[in-house]
Amino acid sequence: MKIFECPNCKSPVFFENTICENCNTSIGYNHYLDAFDIPNNNQDNFSKLCSNFNLGVCNWLVDNNVNTEFCLACSLNRTVPNRSNTDHFNKWVKLETAKHRLIYQLLKLKLPIKSKLQDENGIAFDFLSENNKENAVTGHADGVVTIILTEADSVQREQLRKQMNEAYRTLLGHFRHEIGHYYWELLFNDSNIESFRQVFGDERLDYSEALEKHYKNGAPNNWNQNYISEYATSHPWEDWAETWAHYLHLMDTLETASGFGMSFYPNKEYVKKLVIDTCPNPYFTENFKDIFDASIALTCVANSLNRSMGLPDIYPFIVPDKVIQKLTFIHNLLK
Ligand SMILES: [Zn+2]
Ligand SMILES: [Zn+2]
Ligand SMILES: [Zn+2]
Repeated sequence: MKIFECPNCKSPVFFENTICENCNTSIGYNHYLDAFDIPNNNQDNFSKLCSNFNLGVCNWLVDNNVNTEFCLACSLNRTVPNRSNTDHFNKWVKLETAKHRLIYQLLKLKLPIKSKLQDENGIAFDFLSENNKENAVTGHADGVVTIILTEADSVQREQLRKQMNEAYRTLLGHFRHEIGHYYWELLFNDSNIESFRQVFGDERLDYSEALEKHYKNGAPNNWNQNYISEYATSHPWEDWAETWAHYLHLMDTLETASGFGMSFYPNKEYVKKLVIDTCPNPYFTENFKDIFDASIALTCVANSLNRSMGLPDIYPFIVPDKVIQKLTFIHNLLK
């Protein structure tokens, strides 16, 4: 995520801001220009704030030429919690923060984003509680991404993370994983599915059997030589979604570092491979190796900073060569 500037005074503003902290001007995000604008400025095509602005869950502007009250990100919602339930509502606020960051990144990657409410091949989000559906689970099916509200409870999430032996579990991570399943369906067809199978394996393997087996036996001992996570070993579709999510993690963190003009010059001889003149903007970088090399320096520094604060690693991953190949495959496919 890059840093933005106030359309009035040019002070830095951040993605979730609704007013400029410096000049107090109201601002909204124009996804078409990838910049902040002043709402209700009539010369503009994007001058109306999204209806969800009033609920405090959105700061995006709406295209005046499209007859809708919702911005691109909010137009994808199909089921959202009832406002009268404060607990559910507060969880939804957290989900929307993560979802808006996801949509920002999908736009950066120039991936098609259509609402399922308008096009049956589009995307819809269902944010569900026990009230909507008993035993609802987080997942994807046919363009519908379901996230259960309890995921927004940080205590429960951490409990699940430990229970499932995961190094990393976040709301943004869920969104990135589940949308990966949607884009898999969009990106592969008879003409290129063999290229997928060569890298990730044969997805025709029975999915429910594979998952059952995974939950019973766990991942193979040497999983970390070929996969980004234990769950990725369960089925080629899950390997794709886990690796896809990881690709989005790397692209976003590197864009942030690039936006701040970060460079790394460790002064010890043995860390010379961590020298990076300037973090590249990953969305304009051809070669995935350049992205990955900069990410190594960045995540090494970020982890060390976290340890200085007594916090767990921000990047709790070791990426084997096999996974770099998979990430490179995704990068080249999207290019
Ligand atoms: Zn300002
Ligand atoms: Zn919105
Ligand atoms: Zn999945």
